[in-house]
Amino acid sequence: MARVTLTDVTKVYPGGVKAVDRINLSIVDREFVVLVGPSGCGKSTTLRMVAGLEEISGGTIEIDGRVVNETPPKDRDIAMVFQNYALYPHMSVYKNMAFSLKLRRRELGLSASEIDRKVREAAALLGIEDLLERKPGALSGGQRQRVAVGRAIVRNPKVFLFDEPLSNLDAKLRVEMRSEIKRLQRRLATTTVYVTHDQEEAMTLGDRVVVMKDGIIHQSASPLEVYEKPVNRFVASFVGTPPMCFLEGRVGGSDRPLAFVHGTQRLALPDELAKVAAGAIDRPLLLGIRPDAFATDANAANGSRARLRVRVLLVEPLGDRKDVHMTTATGTKLVGRVDLRSGVAEGQELDMFIDMSRAHLFEPGDAGCNLAAKPQEAPAGVC
Ligand code: ADP
Repeated sequence: MARVTLTDVTKVYPGGVKAVDRINLSIVDREFVVLVGPSGCGKSTTLRMVAGLEEISGGTIEIDGRVVNETPPKDRDIAMVFQNYALYPHMSVYKNMAFSLKLRRRELGLSASEIDRKVREAAALLGIEDLLERKPGALSGGQRQRVAVGRAIVRNPKVFLFDEPLSNLDAKLRVEMRSEIKRLQRRLATTTVYVTHDQEEAMTLGDRVVVMKDGIIHQSASPLEVYEKPVNRFVASFVGTPPMCFLEGRVGGSDRPLAFVHGTQRLALPDELAKVAAGAIDRPLLLGIRPDAFATDANAANGSRARLRVRVLLVEPLGDRKDVHMTTATGTKLVGRVDLRSGVAEGQELDMFIDMSRAHLFEPGDAGCNLAAKPQEAPAGVC
Protein backbone atom coordinates (compact mmCIF):
# COMPACT_ATOMS: atom_id res chain seq x y z
CA MET A 1 0.00 0.00 0.00
CA ALA A 2 1.40 3.41 -0.88
CA ARG A 3 -0.16 6.75 -1.56
CA VAL A 4 1.96 9.69 -2.62
CA THR A 5 0.60 13.17 -1.97
CA LEU A 6 2.16 16.42 -3.10
CA THR A 7 0.71 19.57 -1.55
CA ASP A 8 1.75 22.98 -2.88
CA VAL A 9 5.18 21.60 -3.72
CA THR A 10 7.61 24.20 -5.00
CA LYS A 11 11.22 24.08 -6.10
CA VAL A 12 13.36 27.13 -6.58
CA TYR A 13 16.93 26.31 -7.62
CA PRO A 14 19.81 28.45 -6.42
CA GLY A 15 19.93 31.39 -8.81
CA GLY A 16 16.16 31.78 -8.64
CA VAL A 17 14.89 29.33 -11.31
CA LYS A 18 11.39 28.30 -10.20
CA ALA A 19 11.34 24.79 -11.63
CA VAL A 20 8.13 23.67 -9.87
CA ASP A 21 5.45 26.06 -8.73
CA ARG A 22 2.99 24.95 -6.03
CA ILE A 23 1.88 21.70 -7.58
CA ASN A 24 -0.78 19.48 -6.04
CA LEU A 25 -1.02 15.82 -6.91
CA SER A 26 -2.57 12.91 -5.10
CA ILE A 27 -1.45 9.48 -6.31
CA VAL A 28 -3.44 6.52 -5.04
CA ASP A 29 -2.17 3.07 -4.12
CA ARG A 30 -1.12 0.99 -7.17
CA GLU A 31 -1.69 3.85 -9.56
CA PHE A 32 0.61 4.34 -12.57
CA VAL A 33 1.00 8.09 -12.98
CA VAL A 34 3.01 9.58 -15.83
CA LEU A 35 4.40 13.12 -15.64
CA VAL A 36 4.76 14.44 -19.16
CA GLY A 37 5.62 17.78 -20.73
CA PRO A 38 8.20 19.55 -22.85
CA SER A 39 11.83 19.71 -21.77
CA GLY A 40 12.34 21.99 -18.77
CA CYS A 41 8.73 21.83 -17.53
CA GLY A 42 9.82 20.54 -14.11
CA LYS A 43 8.90 16.86 -14.34
CA SER A 44 12.33 15.45 -13.36
CA THR A 45 12.61 17.94 -10.54
CA THR A 46 9.23 16.78 -9.24
CA LEU A 47 10.27 13.14 -9.39
CA ARG A 48 13.60 13.86 -7.75
CA MET A 49 11.84 15.67 -4.91
CA VAL A 50 9.64 12.61 -4.34
CA ALA A 51 12.81 10.49 -4.33
CA GLY A 52 14.51 12.83 -1.88
CA LEU A 53 17.33 13.63 -4.31
CA GLU A 54 16.34 17.27 -4.45
CA GLU A 55 15.41 19.50 -1.53
CA ILE A 56 11.89 20.92 -1.47
CA SER A 57 11.63 24.73 -1.34
CA GLY A 58 7.99 24.75 -0.22
CA GLY A 59 5.00 22.48 0.39
CA THR A 60 4.89 18.90 1.60
CA ILE A 61 5.37 15.45 0.12
CA GLU A 62 3.73 12.55 1.91
CA ILE A 63 4.22 8.86 1.32
CA ASP A 64 1.43 6.89 2.96
CA GLY A 65 0.42 9.83 5.08
CA ARG A 66 3.91 10.44 6.46
CA VAL A 67 5.57 13.73 5.54
CA VAL A 68 8.94 12.86 4.00
CA ASN A 69 10.26 16.37 3.29
CA GLU A 70 13.27 15.77 5.52
CA THR A 71 13.54 11.99 5.09
CA PRO A 72 16.71 10.83 3.32
CA PRO A 73 16.15 8.88 0.08
CA LYS A 74 17.21 5.54 1.57
CA ASP A 75 14.49 5.78 4.22
CA ARG A 76 11.63 6.61 1.85
CA ASP A 77 11.10 3.04 0.66
CA ILE A 78 11.20 4.03 -2.99
CA ALA A 79 13.22 2.64 -5.89
CA MET A 80 14.25 4.76 -8.83
CA VAL A 81 15.19 3.74 -12.37
CA PHE A 82 17.25 6.30 -14.26
CA GLN A 83 17.65 7.07 -17.93
CA ASN A 84 21.36 6.19 -17.87
CA TYR A 85 20.69 2.95 -15.88
CA ALA A 86 23.38 3.88 -13.29
CA LEU A 87 24.71 0.31 -13.07
CA TYR A 88 28.05 -0.46 -11.42
CA PRO A 89 30.30 -1.36 -14.37
CA HIS A 90 32.71 -3.55 -12.39
CA MET A 91 29.97 -5.71 -10.87
CA SER A 92 28.12 -8.59 -12.47
CA VAL A 93 24.39 -8.30 -13.15
CA TYR A 94 23.78 -10.50 -10.11
CA LYS A 95 25.86 -8.25 -7.87
CA ASN A 96 24.28 -5.12 -9.26
CA MET A 97 20.86 -6.48 -8.42
CA ALA A 98 21.85 -7.78 -4.98
CA PHE A 99 23.88 -4.72 -4.00
CA SER A 100 21.26 -2.59 -2.26
CA LEU A 101 19.87 -5.58 -0.39
CA LYS A 102 23.31 -6.65 0.80
CA LEU A 103 24.06 -3.14 1.93
CA ARG A 104 21.00 -3.12 4.16
CA ARG A 105 20.90 -6.79 4.94
CA ARG A 106 20.90 -6.41 8.72
CA GLU A 107 18.40 -3.58 8.72
CA LEU A 108 16.04 -5.55 6.47
CA GLY A 109 16.65 -8.81 8.35
CA LEU A 110 17.53 -10.72 5.19
CA SER A 111 19.62 -13.90 5.01
CA ALA A 112 22.01 -14.53 2.12
CA SER A 113 19.65 -17.16 0.72
CA GLU A 114 16.70 -14.77 0.86
CA ILE A 115 18.71 -12.19 -1.09
CA ASP A 116 19.64 -14.87 -3.61
CA ARG A 117 15.98 -15.86 -3.97
CA LYS A 118 14.87 -12.25 -4.50
CA VAL A 119 17.51 -11.63 -7.16
CA ARG A 120 16.67 -14.83 -9.02
CA GLU A 121 12.93 -14.17 -8.84
CA ALA A 122 13.35 -10.67 -10.26
CA ALA A 123 15.70 -12.00 -12.96
CA ALA A 124 13.12 -14.63 -13.93
CA LEU A 125 10.38 -12.00 -14.08
CA LEU A 126 12.50 -9.96 -16.48
CA GLY A 127 13.88 -12.88 -18.48
CA ILE A 128 17.51 -12.12 -17.63
CA GLU A 129 18.43 -15.30 -15.69
CA ASP A 130 21.07 -16.15 -18.32
CA LEU A 131 22.81 -12.81 -17.90
CA LEU A 132 23.44 -12.86 -14.17
CA GLU A 133 27.19 -13.45 -14.44
CA ARG A 134 27.79 -10.83 -17.14
CA LYS A 135 29.11 -7.33 -16.54
CA PRO A 136 26.98 -4.38 -17.76
CA GLY A 137 29.53 -3.66 -20.53
CA ALA A 138 28.63 -6.98 -22.15
CA LEU A 139 24.91 -6.22 -22.32
CA SER A 140 22.72 -4.53 -24.94
CA GLY A 141 20.85 -1.33 -24.07
CA GLY A 142 17.60 -3.21 -23.54
CA GLN A 143 19.29 -5.78 -21.29
CA ARG A 144 20.88 -3.04 -19.19
CA GLN A 145 17.50 -1.42 -18.82
CA ARG A 146 16.07 -4.72 -17.60
CA VAL A 147 18.86 -5.02 -15.03
CA ALA A 148 18.16 -1.48 -13.82
CA VAL A 149 14.48 -2.38 -13.43
CA GLY A 150 15.44 -5.65 -11.73
CA ARG A 151 17.54 -3.77 -9.23
CA ALA A 152 14.48 -1.69 -8.35
CA ILE A 153 12.17 -4.72 -8.12
CA VAL A 154 14.31 -6.76 -5.69
CA ARG A 155 13.81 -4.11 -3.06
CA ASN A 156 10.05 -4.53 -3.16
CA PRO A 157 9.62 -0.79 -2.58
CA LYS A 158 6.43 1.08 -1.79
CA VAL A 159 6.89 3.29 -4.85
CA PHE A 160 8.68 2.96 -8.19
CA LEU A 161 10.05 6.13 -9.73
CA PHE A 162 11.11 6.08 -13.38
CA ASP A 163 13.01 8.99 -14.92
CA GLU A 164 12.86 8.72 -18.75
CA PRO A 165 13.98 5.07 -18.51
CA LEU A 166 13.56 4.31 -22.21
CA SER A 167 15.10 7.37 -23.84
CA ASN A 168 18.38 5.66 -24.66
CA LEU A 169 16.78 2.76 -26.50
CA ASP A 170 15.97 2.55 -30.19
CA ALA A 171 12.36 3.07 -31.27
CA LYS A 172 11.41 -0.61 -31.58
CA LEU A 173 12.94 -1.61 -28.27
CA ARG A 174 11.32 1.35 -26.59
CA VAL A 175 7.89 0.10 -27.60
CA GLU A 176 8.73 -3.43 -26.40
CA MET A 177 10.10 -2.25 -23.06
CA ARG A 178 7.12 0.03 -22.65
CA SER A 179 4.68 -2.85 -22.64
CA GLU A 180 7.03 -4.85 -20.44
CA ILE A 181 7.10 -2.09 -17.82
CA LYS A 182 3.34 -1.79 -17.93
CA ARG A 183 2.84 -5.55 -17.50
CA LEU A 184 5.32 -5.60 -14.66
CA GLN A 185 3.68 -2.71 -12.87
CA ARG A 186 0.28 -4.43 -13.11
CA ARG A 187 1.74 -7.66 -11.81
CA LEU A 188 3.64 -6.12 -8.92
CA ALA A 189 0.80 -3.66 -8.18
CA THR A 190 3.27 -1.04 -6.99
CA THR A 191 2.47 2.66 -7.03
CA THR A 192 4.49 4.16 -9.87
CA VAL A 193 5.49 7.65 -10.96
CA TYR A 194 7.05 7.78 -14.42
CA VAL A 195 8.57 10.78 -16.18
CA THR A 196 8.78 11.16 -19.96
CA HIS A 197 8.74 13.92 -22.56
CA ASP A 198 7.14 11.51 -25.04
CA GLN A 199 3.38 12.00 -25.10
CA GLU A 200 2.77 8.67 -26.82
CA GLU A 201 4.68 6.84 -24.08
CA ALA A 202 2.67 8.74 -21.47
CA MET A 203 -0.65 7.92 -23.10
CA THR A 204 0.09 4.21 -23.48
CA LEU A 205 1.56 3.68 -20.00
CA GLY A 206 -0.37 5.82 -17.58
CA ASP A 207 -3.54 5.15 -15.64
CA ARG A 208 -3.29 8.89 -15.30
CA VAL A 209 -1.35 11.43 -17.30
CA VAL A 210 -0.16 14.64 -15.66
CA VAL A 211 0.64 17.26 -18.30
CA MET A 212 3.10 19.91 -17.09
CA LYS A 213 4.46 23.17 -18.50
CA ASP A 214 6.63 25.84 -16.89
CA GLY A 215 6.53 24.20 -13.47
CA ILE A 216 2.78 23.82 -13.21
CA ILE A 217 0.29 21.05 -13.87
CA HIS A 218 -2.07 21.87 -16.70
CA GLN A 219 -4.14 18.70 -16.59
CA SER A 220 -4.18 15.52 -14.57
CA ALA A 221 -6.60 12.91 -15.95
CA SER A 222 -6.92 9.55 -17.71
CA PRO A 223 -5.24 9.34 -21.14
CA LEU A 224 -8.64 9.27 -22.83
CA GLU A 225 -9.86 12.35 -21.01
CA VAL A 226 -6.67 14.27 -21.72
CA TYR A 227 -7.06 13.41 -25.40
CA GLU A 228 -10.77 14.01 -25.76
CA LYS A 229 -11.28 16.78 -23.22
CA PRO A 230 -8.08 18.82 -23.08
CA VAL A 231 -8.51 21.68 -20.60
CA ASN A 232 -6.63 24.15 -22.77
CA ARG A 233 -4.85 24.65 -26.05
CA PHE A 234 -1.45 23.68 -24.66
CA VAL A 235 -2.68 20.23 -23.59
CA ALA A 236 -4.65 19.85 -26.82
CA SER A 237 -1.53 20.55 -28.91
CA PHE A 238 0.85 18.51 -26.78
CA VAL A 239 -1.13 15.29 -26.86
CA GLY A 240 -1.79 13.45 -30.14
CA THR A 241 0.13 13.00 -33.39
CA PRO A 242 -0.14 14.83 -35.67
CA PRO A 243 -1.18 17.57 -33.27
CA MET A 244 -4.62 19.15 -33.14
CA CYS A 245 -5.20 21.87 -35.77
CA PHE A 246 -6.60 25.27 -34.95
CA LEU A 247 -8.75 27.61 -37.04
CA GLU A 248 -9.00 31.25 -35.99
CA GLY A 249 -12.41 32.85 -36.06
CA ARG A 250 -15.43 33.71 -33.98
CA VAL A 251 -18.89 32.41 -33.31
CA GLY A 252 -21.34 34.46 -35.34
CA GLY A 253 -24.21 35.72 -33.24
CA SER A 254 -26.74 35.94 -36.06
CA ASP A 255 -26.40 32.41 -37.41
CA ARG A 256 -28.99 29.80 -36.46
CA PRO A 257 -27.80 27.21 -35.70
CA LEU A 258 -24.75 28.93 -34.29
CA ALA A 259 -21.72 28.66 -36.55
CA PHE A 260 -17.99 29.16 -36.23
CA VAL A 261 -16.93 31.75 -38.79
CA HIS A 262 -13.45 31.38 -40.28
CA GLY A 263 -12.76 33.93 -43.03
CA THR A 264 -15.81 33.71 -45.26
CA GLN A 265 -16.60 30.12 -44.24
CA ARG A 266 -19.26 29.07 -41.73
CA LEU A 267 -19.05 25.80 -39.83
CA ALA A 268 -22.33 24.95 -38.08
CA LEU A 269 -21.86 23.96 -34.43
CA PRO A 270 -23.61 20.88 -33.02
CA ASP A 271 -25.89 21.50 -30.03
CA GLU A 272 -23.36 20.68 -27.35
CA LEU A 273 -20.69 23.01 -28.76
CA ALA A 274 -23.30 25.68 -29.50
CA LYS A 275 -24.26 25.66 -25.81
CA VAL A 276 -20.64 26.21 -24.86
CA ALA A 277 -20.25 28.92 -27.52
CA ALA A 278 -23.34 30.85 -26.49
CA GLY A 279 -21.38 32.78 -23.86
CA ALA A 280 -18.61 33.74 -26.28
CA ILE A 281 -20.43 35.22 -29.27
CA ASP A 282 -18.36 37.49 -31.54
CA ARG A 283 -15.14 37.08 -29.54
CA PRO A 284 -11.94 35.85 -31.20
CA LEU A 285 -11.71 32.09 -30.61
CA LEU A 286 -9.96 29.02 -31.97
CA LEU A 287 -11.70 25.95 -33.28
CA GLY A 288 -9.62 22.85 -32.45
CA ILE A 289 -9.87 19.86 -34.77
CA ARG A 290 -8.06 16.52 -34.44
CA PRO A 291 -6.52 15.37 -37.74
CA ASP A 292 -8.62 12.21 -37.73
CA ALA A 293 -11.85 14.24 -37.48
CA PHE A 294 -11.34 15.24 -41.13
CA ALA A 295 -12.73 13.18 -44.02
CA THR A 296 -12.87 13.74 -47.75
CA ASP A 297 -16.14 11.86 -48.07
CA ALA A 298 -19.26 13.39 -46.53
CA ASN A 299 -20.48 9.92 -45.54
CA ALA A 300 -17.29 8.99 -43.74
CA ALA A 301 -17.46 11.87 -41.27
CA ASN A 302 -19.71 10.89 -38.41
CA GLY A 303 -22.45 12.82 -36.75
CA SER A 304 -22.50 16.52 -37.17
CA ARG A 305 -20.52 17.42 -40.27
CA ALA A 306 -19.24 20.79 -41.38
CA ARG A 307 -17.69 21.57 -44.71
CA LEU A 308 -14.40 23.43 -45.04
CA ARG A 309 -12.91 24.55 -48.35
CA VAL A 310 -9.16 23.87 -48.45
CA ARG A 311 -6.27 23.64 -50.88
CA VAL A 312 -4.06 20.56 -50.59
CA LEU A 313 -0.36 21.33 -50.12
CA LEU A 314 1.09 17.88 -49.59
CA VAL A 315 -0.11 14.27 -49.25
CA GLU A 316 1.85 11.83 -47.08
CA PRO A 317 0.84 8.15 -47.38
CA LEU A 318 1.25 6.26 -44.08
CA GLY A 319 0.32 2.72 -45.02
CA ASP A 320 -3.25 2.42 -43.85
CA ARG A 321 -4.01 6.17 -43.74
CA LYS A 322 -2.64 9.32 -45.27
CA ASP A 323 -1.90 12.76 -43.91
CA VAL A 324 -3.16 15.64 -45.99
CA HIS A 325 -1.43 18.98 -45.37
CA MET A 326 -3.72 21.77 -46.44
CA THR A 327 -4.44 25.45 -46.14
CA THR A 328 -7.60 27.51 -45.95
CA ALA A 329 -8.10 30.71 -47.97
CA THR A 330 -6.85 32.75 -44.99
CA GLY A 331 -3.56 30.82 -44.97
CA THR A 332 -4.23 28.67 -41.89
CA LYS A 333 -2.33 25.39 -42.16
CA LEU A 334 -4.10 22.16 -41.20
CA VAL A 335 -3.35 18.44 -41.29
CA GLY A 336 -6.05 15.86 -41.88
CA ARG A 337 -5.52 12.12 -41.44
CA VAL A 338 -7.83 10.44 -43.90
CA ASP A 339 -8.59 7.07 -45.47
CA LEU A 340 -5.85 5.82 -47.80
CA ARG A 341 -8.38 5.47 -50.62
CA SER A 342 -9.43 9.12 -50.41
CA GLY A 343 -8.72 10.67 -53.79
CA VAL A 344 -6.76 13.81 -52.89
CA ALA A 345 -3.98 15.29 -54.94
CA GLU A 346 -1.46 18.01 -54.21
CA GLY A 347 -2.61 21.42 -55.48
CA GLN A 348 -6.27 20.36 -55.52
CA GLU A 349 -9.01 22.52 -53.99
CA LEU A 350 -11.73 20.54 -52.25
CA ASP A 351 -14.26 20.43 -49.44
CA MET A 352 -13.08 18.61 -46.33
CA PHE A 353 -15.74 17.30 -43.97
CA ILE A 354 -15.20 17.78 -40.25
CA ASP A 355 -16.84 15.75 -37.51
CA MET A 356 -17.89 18.72 -35.41
CA SER A 357 -18.99 16.53 -32.50
CA ARG A 358 -15.25 16.11 -31.81
CA ALA A 359 -14.28 19.77 -32.24
CA HIS A 360 -13.36 22.11 -29.37
CA LEU A 361 -13.50 25.85 -28.86
CA PHE A 362 -10.57 27.57 -27.18
CA GLU A 363 -9.83 31.06 -26.00
CA PRO A 364 -6.97 32.61 -28.00
CA GLY A 365 -3.37 32.22 -26.82
CA ASP A 366 -0.97 29.28 -26.43
CA ALA A 367 -2.75 28.02 -23.33
CA GLY A 368 -6.22 29.41 -24.06
CA CYS A 369 -8.90 27.66 -22.06
CA ASN A 370 -11.20 25.05 -23.60
CA LEU A 371 -14.61 26.70 -23.32
CA ALA A 372 -16.09 23.32 -22.35
CA ALA A 373 -13.67 22.73 -19.46
CA LYS A 374 -15.26 23.11 -16.07
CA PRO A 375 -13.26 25.39 -13.80
CA GLN A 376 -12.57 22.57 -11.31
CA GLU A 377 -11.02 20.43 -14.06
CA ALA A 378 -8.12 22.82 -14.58
CA PRO A 379 -5.69 23.48 -11.75
CA ALA A 380 -5.72 27.04 -10.45
CA GLY A 381 -4.11 29.58 -12.73
CA VAL A 382 -4.02 27.34 -15.80
CA CYS A 383 -6.74 28.76 -18.06
P1 ADP B 1 12.27 18.44 -17.21
O1 ADP B 1 12.56 17.19 -16.46
O2 ADP B 1 10.81 18.67 -17.38
O3 ADP B 1 13.01 18.55 -18.51
P2 ADP B 1 13.68 19.76 -15.06
O4 ADP B 1 12.87 19.40 -13.87
O5 ADP B 1 14.93 18.99 -15.31
O6 ADP B 1 12.74 19.69 -16.35
O7 ADP B 1 14.04 21.31 -15.02
C1 ADP B 1 13.07 22.30 -14.75
C2 ADP B 1 13.76 23.67 -14.78
O8 ADP B 1 14.71 23.75 -13.72
C3 ADP B 1 14.53 23.96 -16.05
O9 ADP B 1 14.38 25.32 -16.33
C4 ADP B 1 15.95 23.62 -15.70
O10 ADP B 1 16.87 24.38 -16.46
C5 ADP B 1 16.00 24.01 -14.24
N1 ADP B 1 16.97 23.19 -13.47
C6 ADP B 1 17.02 21.85 -13.38
N2 ADP B 1 18.01 21.46 -12.57
C7 ADP B 1 18.61 22.59 -12.12
C8 ADP B 1 19.72 22.87 -11.24
N3 ADP B 1 20.40 21.88 -10.64
N4 ADP B 1 20.05 24.16 -11.03
C9 ADP B 1 19.37 25.18 -11.62
N5 ADP B 1 18.32 24.99 -12.45
C10 ADP B 1 17.95 23.72 -12.71
